[in-house]
Amino acid sequence: MTFVVTQACVDIQDKSCVQVCPADCIYEGGRMMYINPDQCIDCGACEEVCPVSAIRYDGDVTGADEQFVDFNAEFFEGMDVKGARKLGKIDRDVEFVAALPRKAG
Ligand code: SF4
Repeated sequence: MTFVVTQACVDIQDKSCVQVCPADCIYEGGRMMYINPDQCIDCGACEEVCPVSAIRYDGDVTGADEQFVDFNAEFFEGMDVKGARKLGKIDRDVEFVAALPRKAG
């Protein structure tokens, strides 16, 4: 079990979550943030600070956001990453997110 970032983050990327994550496992993608499931220690700090309620416990994710449980894991496939802050922005997204229409504003 892990926490995951869902669609509400797309084109928002507030990043308050990054500041409170003790495991440094919330990475900045091109259009949304992604939580590395291999690093997350399930503390829940990120969920509380997200201004758009984009972060959920994976077992609580329902409906259209369910696919984001897989998307968070998929983002890190083939990557050996151990720290988000040092790495900085990774300018790509999973296919589904990259294809979403841009939010206005
Ligand atoms: Fe980081 Fe805790 Fe959120 Fe996991 S649950 S991403 S360790 S703040």
